[in-house]
Amino acid sequence: MVGLAVACALSNMPLTKNLRVAIIDSNPALKSRNYLTKSSIPDSRVSTVTPATISFFKDIGVWEHVQQQRHAFFGKMQVWDYTGLGYTRYNAKDVGKEYLGCVVENKVLCNSLLLRLQEELDDIENVIYPTRLVSLTFPSKSKQAGMKPTSSEPLSAGHSTEELHRSNLVKLDLSDGRSLYSKLVIGADGSKSNVRQIAGIKTTGWNYPQSAIICTVEHVMENDCAWQRFLPSGPIALLPIGDNFSNIVWTMSPEESLRHKSMSPEEFVMSVNRALDFGYGPHPRPNALDHFMEKFFSGTGNTAASTKESFEVPPKATGVVSERMAFPLSLMHSHDYVSKRLALVGDAAHTVHPLAGQGVNLGFGDAAALAKVIAEGVSVGSDVGDLTLLQRYEKDRKAANVAMTAVLDGFQKIYSVDFGPLNVARAAAFHGAQYISPLKRNIISFAMGDTKWPIFS
Ligand SMILES: Cc1cc2nc3c(=O)[nH]c(=O)nc-3n(C[C@H](O)[C@H](O)[C@H](O)COP(=O)(O)OP(=O)(O)OC[C@H]3O[C@@H](n4cnc5c(N)ncnc54)[C@H](O)[C@@H]3O)c2cc1C
Repeated sequence: MVGLAVACALSNMPLTKNLRVAIIDSNPALKSRNYLTKSSIPDSRVSTVTPATISFFKDIGVWEHVQQQRHAFFGKMQVWDYTGLGYTRYNAKDVGKEYLGCVVENKVLCNSLLLRLQEELDDIENVIYPTRLVSLTFPSKSKQAGMKPTSSEPLSAGHSTEELHRSNLVKLDLSDGRSLYSKLVIGADGSKSNVRQIAGIKTTGWNYPQSAIICTVEHVMENDCAWQRFLPSGPIALLPIGDNFSNIVWTMSPEESLRHKSMSPEEFVMSVNRALDFGYGPHPRPNALDHFMEKFFSGTGNTAASTKESFEVPPKATGVVSERMAFPLSLMHSHDYVSKRLALVGDAAHTVHPLAGQGVNLGFGDAAALAKVIAEGVSVGSDVGDLTLLQRYEKDRKAANVAMTAVLDGFQKIYSVDFGPLNVARAAAFHGAQYISPLKRNIISFAMGDTKWPIFS
């Protein structure tokens, strides 16, 4: 998805639209050229996209294709945990907006990017190479790797001056036997990025002792709120995806995820409803601390709309209507995002826990930033693979990505421990976010894609 977003952004800007781009990926999703029908059952792989991503998609003409297909805006969110000691409600009105985010199937994001590219390019089929990258040779280091490049050179056999020119480019060997030469290779090949590994870029990271199980469930009524409850083994999220459907993202131990994948649909639905209701612990009840905090902070004026919202029980699931899939979870951050003639974007550069639905949004932020830097380079006649130019992209993105990675890892750790004093601290955090309006607004802004830290401003 993120690689397509870079290609789309480049094709959308006058300065970069004539760059020759090659998209190398054998993923069958890249064959889609039609809208998905809204009457079909939503796919289990969805992303919660932030207002920052929506704004980027509008800028590059992709959002209008998303709008033709199934997508679900949500303006409310409720977060709580199994201890029953507190909850936080968020409302888009708290920050003067109409929505907090939008849930979109990954297939819809992917085909919207492809449809936009098709509008901009003479023949999209000449740009997409439905194959794998087998090896990669950098001009100076002669390293071999498998990755995703932008082609700037003709594919025909070269003569001597062409050979000389090519010796300054990256050579990409594809699994169908073809080779491409490029001034810049953009590694958008996911968390296990071959490009990154063969370029020798080091990473920091670890596997979480958790997997996420995802699927689509049905309700009797439409769900218009995003719900997340932290359980002892990890969070469960119920995300609206339109009509009477919601998406489940449930984090648990790998053993439990296998059990939940193989249990009967009826048992699974019971398990989901229990996890989102009375299972593992009580509902939060108003207590003396709530009354004190509400009274104390309501006097400060400009109280957020959701401060007075009560705890609600999420709508019950009545059936599971999609395949259940399980994903192992990990954190990874690349020490470098760039080297000469190479840039990493998306999960190839950073992989985060899905508990706040931020992963692909960070990637789309990378795509926008990299395309902008390339356009700046073209405007002054720079080589688009120049390291100094690419470092501007890294500088722009790294701090924001590291901040989000650290915040999400902190959440994962704090909410994975069942320990009395920590439970109280978590309850205090829920109360703080519920009643202290400036804090609430900062958290919302951060999650919506603003780069501000979630602290008082
Ligand atoms: C359970 C779960 C829920 C999530 N929910 C959200 C959410 O709500 N919101 C959100 O923002 N993020 C979410 N994420 C994270 C999000 O899915 C990822 O951040 C996103 O998919 C990364 O996109 P990408 O394009 O960088 O990489 P990928 O989606 O991994 O794509 C990589 C592409 O590279 C191709 N490729 C790999 N190797 C090669 C090769 N050698 N040659 C050619 N092609 C190759 C693959 O075929 C693939 O198409 C979630 C993740 C999980 C696991």
